[in-house]
Amino acid sequence: MTEKIVDSDRNCLFCKIASGQIPSKLVYQDDELYAFHDIHPWAPVHFLLIPKLHIPSMAQLTDAQAGLMGRMLVLAPKLALEQGCNPYPSGGFRLVCNTGLEGGQEVQHLHIHVMGGPRPWLRG
Ligand code: ADP
Repeated sequence: MTEKIVDSDRNCLFCKIASGQIPSKLVYQDDELYAFHDIHPWAPVHFLLIPKLHIPSMAQLTDAQAGLMGRMLVLAPKLALEQGCNPYPSGGFRLVCNTGLEGGQEVQHLHIHVMGGPRPWLRG
């Protein structure tokens, strides 16, 4: 059975954040993408990058959404630098995309954690 993917899920926390119904500390937005600071940061720089479209996780990405995911990956380094991560190679950042229960995903809307800044925040 294929899961129906809707533009926006009215019960989804991150859909509500992307549409402004729930406040967030904005990092970036355009027609397709939204980035905001994580409410419980694990690192000096920690923000979440999401598609505005409600996609539950990476596991539901379609071939047609490869460009959207590509845009997220191209945008992440630019935003990381703007938010205070030091440049590659001595600086850098970490991307995490928890997927599913066993992957540690709590919020069922595709999101990439972008984390960086001076150590010792780095774990594992
Ligand atoms: P985990 O909580 O294990 O990191 P996820 O990968 O699903 O699971 O991440 C959800 C992230 O969303 C968490 O880092 C959490 O701090 C963050 N978060 C939850 N609610 C908000 C909110 N209202 N504003 C900003 N970040 C939030």
